[in-house]
Amino acid sequence: MDILHLDIKSMMLMCVFIGVLISGGLAALLRDRYVCPGMPFWVCGFFLFTVGVFFAVGRAFTPLWVSVFFGNLFSFLGTNLLWLGLLKYNNKMKRYHFLVMGLSLLTAISLLFMLSAGVPEKNRAELISIVFNVQSLLCVREALRDREQYESGRLMFAFTCMLATIGSCLRFLTYQMEQSYSLLNTNISNLLLIFNAIIVFLGLSFSIMLITSQWLQQKLAAFAAYDALTGVYNRYGLSEQTAVLFGSKNKAAFSNCSVAMIDIDFFKKTNDSYGHFVGDLVLKAVAATLRQNIRHQDILARYGGEEFIVVLPDTSKAAALAWAERVRELVSMEPVLVNQHAITITLSIGLVDLSEEKHVSLDDAIREADIALYQAKERGRNRVCWFDNAASLLMYTANYNGGVTSVTDR
Ligand code: GH3
Ligand code: MG
Ligand code: MG
Repeated sequence: MDILHLDIKSMMLMCVFIGVLISGGLAALLRDRYVCPGMPFWVCGFFLFTVGVFFAVGRAFTPLWVSVFFGNLFSFLGTNLLWLGLLKYNNKMKRYHFLVMGLSLLTAISLLFMLSAGVPEKNRAELISIVFNVQSLLCVREALRDREQYESGRLMFAFTCMLATIGSCLRFLTYQMEQSYSLLNTNISNLLLIFNAIIVFLGLSFSIMLITSQWLQQKLAAFAAYDALTGVYNRYGLSEQTAVLFGSKNKAAFSNCSVAMIDIDFFKKTNDSYGHFVGDLVLKAVAATLRQNIRHQDILARYGGEEFIVVLPDTSKAAALAWAERVRELVSMEPVLVNQHAITITLSIGLVDLSEEKHVSLDDAIREADIALYQAKERGRNRVCWFDNAASLLMYTANYNGGVTSVTDR
């Protein structure tokens, strides 16, 4: 080993130096506009881990008990914080999870007692390895919990912790072979320790940056998919969701569903009479009513100014008709209350049934629903019209005196 001229003290100091740089780099991410949940924990975790390594190497120039107690305490607490950060990221953090830090304190105190009782250093190191492995495996579990396929950062986090655990297990074995163990000697155990520290610093910092970047991408994608006023999907969100639902990348291949295009009647008049602010509130109210009257698998989107699209998967023609008529009636019966004004609004709805057709694109489905909507407007508004592929259009007209009847004509 001496031939390699490896000096554990210098290498540990180098780890401290790297740890400080990484903690500083990660701390800079805390100033971002959107801070990844878990990031404050990870930054503090890295910093404490670095302080722990500093105290560990500090035994060269401080009393041994200071190094044993603070070195281990800070390293354990640092690992605890990395785990807590993952819990926070997964939205699974509970107050009692912080108790793990108390366990770390207890372990550090136990190590102090072992030191004063004259327990050999290698036995203390064994206890440290066991505690570290448990903490590391907790991190692996949390990093992989409910992981989405795109989250390679979390996979890398788990992989890095696994590597550190393997390194720590090997270290445990090497103690058994050594007669007298000391932290600052150049031996296999301590080289494994350095290996672990480097893995934790480099592997985990890269994983965390990857997690942050993937989290941000998801967040921005979610922003891009929703309409800011009504909170329902916008056109981009609609195409994304239909692609997910119908399993096609760019153009959703529709099958076995119905699509409704909904337009508020004479909405310009509402704006002209009450102002755009009130118009906005009416749009929000209509979106809320629609949202309350769809199933979880249905997709609701604001298509344009006062137009909405609803995709109803696995919905027969009869069921879609009944749904559209119910929504139309509901909106027309319940005026929207804004600033002491009761504003009555009505909807025109164009429907298309794709249950018989396969692989119709989203654009085609919307075009057909739009033709049906145009007919509903033509025929007097406040009604539901049906697009029929063969006959071009079949009319569905509501009976406005309560009850619902269907009438077909050309
Ligand atoms: P029709 O029954 O034929 O649909 O008549 P309409 O007045 O509803 O249709 P038109 O296309 O003439 O007018 C739509 C209006 O919707 C015009 C526009 O000012 C209004 N609008 C579009 N987007 C918004 C919005 O975000 N907020 C508000 N307040 N108004 C909007
Ligand atoms: Mg309109
Ligand atoms: Mg319109």
